[in-house]
Amino acid sequence: MSLSISFENSYAQELTGLYVSWQGTQWPDPQVIVLNDTLAQALGLDPATLRSAEGVGMLSGHALPDSAHPLAQAYAGHQFGGFTPQLGDGRAILLGEVLDPQGARWDIHLKGSGRTPFARGGDGRAVLGPVLREYLVSEAMAALGVPTTRSLAACTTGDRVLRQFGMEPGAVLARVASSHIRVGTFQFFAARGEIEKLSLLLEYAIARHEPDLTGVEDAALKFLERVCKRQARLVAQWMGLGFIHGVMNTDNTTISGETIDYGPCAFMDRYDPATVFSSIDQMGRYAYSNQPAIMVWNLARLAEALLPLIDPREERAIARATEVIEQAQADYRQDWLNVFAHKLGLNQPDAALIEDLHALWQRQEVDFTSFFRALPDALRGNPDPLAALFRSADGLEGWLARYRAALDDPQAMADLLETRNPLYIPRNHLVEAALEAASAHGDMAPFHTLLERVQNPYEAVAGMEDYAQPAPKDADAIVTYCGT
Ligand code: AMP
Ligand code: MG
Ligand code: MG
Repeated sequence: MSLSISFENSYAQELTGLYVSWQGTQWPDPQVIVLNDTLAQALGLDPATLRSAEGVGMLSGHALPDSAHPLAQAYAGHQFGGFTPQLGDGRAILLGEVLDPQGARWDIHLKGSGRTPFARGGDGRAVLGPVLREYLVSEAMAALGVPTTRSLAACTTGDRVLRQFGMEPGAVLARVASSHIRVGTFQFFAARGEIEKLSLLLEYAIARHEPDLTGVEDAALKFLERVCKRQARLVAQWMGLGFIHGVMNTDNTTISGETIDYGPCAFMDRYDPATVFSSIDQMGRYAYSNQPAIMVWNLARLAEALLPLIDPREERAIARATEVIEQAQADYRQDWLNVFAHKLGLNQPDAALIEDLHALWQRQEVDFTSFFRALPDALRGNPDPLAALFRSADGLEGWLARYRAALDDPQAMADLLETRNPLYIPRNHLVEAALEAASAHGDMAPFHTLLERVQNPYEAVAGMEDYAQPAPKDADAIVTYCGT
């Protein structure tokens, strides 16, 4: 292969023994069906090259450039609370890293590239619907300012794959992240007592994500603190958007603080703290309002894995790590207040006002996203569209009066709120319709229309009103599926 796409391979070179070298699969007819030109350019990659035969080979895993050192990463994970000591990339490979024009390092990773030694009973495959879901939702999150893995391309493979509801088009997602190191990556080596590898991984993670901690005293503890801060901020942002990840296992928790693994995720429409979409989350472990507690629980698992590197005296290590985890809880609370203060345009987070608003939403079936877009009108003097979102608007007037009083200039804030709260999010029924059109009919038009909207989430576009509406009340409840 020619070398016009050039990878660095720091993970492969510096972390021998922490992965398995592994190739992609040769496909019958690989095709790029969506390419993220903007992201490609930001990475310093040429979109035309990515669309060429060489690009298709790379983006689908069919034929990789010589500079790639493809590998499957080893990791473990707590899945729904139970520990699995070996998970790893069962259907994914890391090709290597590219350096963008600013010198930042980005992983290029393929999901759906075939079975690896970590595949267990899985077929190593991905299918078009879920690949497009990840593409849409991750790009929406990026446009909403939420740290996330990005989607560079979606390819079809030319063959079909058996899934729950029949045969579906096989697909591969090319994903970009500041790294794919997870809480579960640390857990894998900690659980095996491989402290040298654990230490090597920490050193690598610090060099990559926290270079200022290199060689610093208490680096492991400080690293943990940094991860906690980023995760707290991340989950606070999710809460501000009504985003429900759906599978917050420790193997799906990055140390970079990027959202990863868009499996059964969905945005909450009608406000209900207990909202769950995932078919496998029967107990509601990963319900909307449980996400902060789960985030802290996952960080405690990272802390446990890092204990031997925090202090050789175990009791001392536990005491110090516990302080950090407690701080994460407090940080989250502050981040959550800041997120809602920003959404409401408050200069100071007013905890009572924010908490009372959440109480007001209870049992009202208020569309979470629409609420914030109806607020500006209420501030301009027309509260009717806002009140119409409630089953019973009791208490709304009183809350609005307090809210107005908390703002310096309600009129001026009205305009600003429209730049802070999205009009277009990947609403479940729109996502489902776009995926269905693509998978069942090869019609990509609904996908592209929705993608365009969620990539520009704040600005109202004439004729696109439907894209800002919740599903009709009598629509079927959406259920999302994992491992697809
Ligand atoms: P997830 O629930 O997507 O985070 O995946 C959990 C684990 O299952 C990871 O180790 C994945 O690599 C693996 N996995 C998921 N789907 C498949 C599949 N179709 N084939 C092989 N491994 C899979
Ligand atoms: Mg995963
Ligand atoms: Mg997944």
